[in-house]
Amino acid sequence: MRILSVASEIFPLIKTGGLADVVGALPLALKQYGCDVTTIIPGYTSVLNKLKNGKIIHEYKELFGEPAKLISYNHEGLDLIIIKSPNLFERDGGPYSDANGKDWDDNWKRFAALSLAAADLIGGIVKGLDFQVLHSHDWQAALAPVYLRFGSLKMQKTPSIITIHNITFQGRFNADCFKWLNLPDEAISIEGLEYYGDLSYLKGAIAYASKVTTVSPTYAREILDSEFGMGLEGLIWARENDLIGILNGIDNDIWNPEIDEDLPVKYNHSKLSLRKKNRAKLEEKFNLTKSKKPIFCVISRLTWQKGIDVLIDCFDDIINMGGRIVVLGAGDKAFENAVLAAAERHKGKIGAIIGYDEKTSHLMQGAADAILIPSRFEPCGLTQLYGLKYGCVPIVARTGGLADSIIDANTAAINTGVATGFQLSKLGYQELLNTIGRAIKAYYTPKVWSKIQTNGMKADFSWKESAKKYKELYESLISK
Ligand code: ADP
Repeated sequence: MRILSVASEIFPLIKTGGLADVVGALPLALKQYGCDVTTIIPGYTSVLNKLKNGKIIHEYKELFGEPAKLISYNHEGLDLIIIKSPNLFERDGGPYSDANGKDWDDNWKRFAALSLAAADLIGGIVKGLDFQVLHSHDWQAALAPVYLRFGSLKMQKTPSIITIHNITFQGRFNADCFKWLNLPDEAISIEGLEYYGDLSYLKGAIAYASKVTTVSPTYAREILDSEFGMGLEGLIWARENDLIGILNGIDNDIWNPEIDEDLPVKYNHSKLSLRKKNRAKLEEKFNLTKSKKPIFCVISRLTWQKGIDVLIDCFDDIINMGGRIVVLGAGDKAFENAVLAAAERHKGKIGAIIGYDEKTSHLMQGAADAILIPSRFEPCGLTQLYGLKYGCVPIVARTGGLADSIIDANTAAINTGVATGFQLSKLGYQELLNTIGRAIKAYYTPKVWSKIQTNGMKADFSWKESAKKYKELYESLISK
């Protein structure tokens, strides 16, 4: 099977969150099921700098008014098509915003260009390249199914999938942009892109894609509800028969404590005691005083979604309860400042790094005792899966993929030996503290704690099963 995947980020070339991990790992996992996946992504400067030996496969005279080329590469086993369009993508800053965090004004155009190029590839713009399914990820790639729906016969006949990694981000733009999208008026109807007088790219994809998937079964149910659907729940209901939740997996070649080069000492579940050696490095990195007290880590965007406000409120109490905390994250300035202030108040007990650092995130998973993920909603979440794999016990809110991947260490689960972490039923200050209290108690009962750790480390959250589900989905669409 030949699949064209469309996305705005892919690990190891460009990553701002879990989306990149999934877009990078799924094609490799699908290979064993006979699926050839090519991924089209924008040619950001940082991406182009990492790639070599490309082959120009198409030249646009203009794509949204800008010169553009499609260049194919193979990089670390990934088949890629990069859109090289200097005016659209080669700039300082992040993929979506400038160095000050302000969204690029022309994002509507940049990601429409990504989607249009993907649709053109489906339509056969490059001789000899032929795809059977288009698989779009999130709002940045969401116009691709819309272009297919209103495109050539070949485009209309090709099935498409939109995978929603987070329904909060909808690609909402002023309706004035519509006239530049080169779509018929029908596309801006209430059944299409129109959204409260604006455009919503994600809404368009949900309306027109053959199938809608999300990254966990629980999140697929949650987004039918107004609390999680972010205004799109009505349309999601209308597509309920085509809605599927498939839990993300993890790439065992990248997230694996037995081979992880970012850990001072590698280990596995039968050599758990080796983790202690990594703890020394973590204490040093975050300026913590040496101690045997449990270390809770946070590796996250510092945003409301992630429950960071409630977590920060608990920091003083966690320290009073005998815990220590290390935070790696970036996001809302108020939260960044509150984290830094807490580290200042509790020198030697709370350490913080504001920023994004892949290597440090690996060290934290391989050295901290537990990872805190008190999200208000979590489509899948990857850090709890990495935590399981590394024996860094996840403490999570019971929502989305967190609910689907962690077995709470309640009395029954401890007695039957199946617990893998701790869940709080509803995010709140007291509930979070109670749950952390339960974890601290378990930490001081080494037999219980090491059982929770080993259960998690032995659990299989690789892509094997999930990739198979995507393959079956592709097959079902092709056979129609
Ligand atoms: P989301 O995609 O909502 O941000 P996920 O848990 O699905 O959350 O994925 C987050 C990914 O980004 C994980 O791979 C995590 O390790 C990584 N990550 C988050 N914040 C940082 C950071 N500050 N530094 C390094 N990696 C980070």
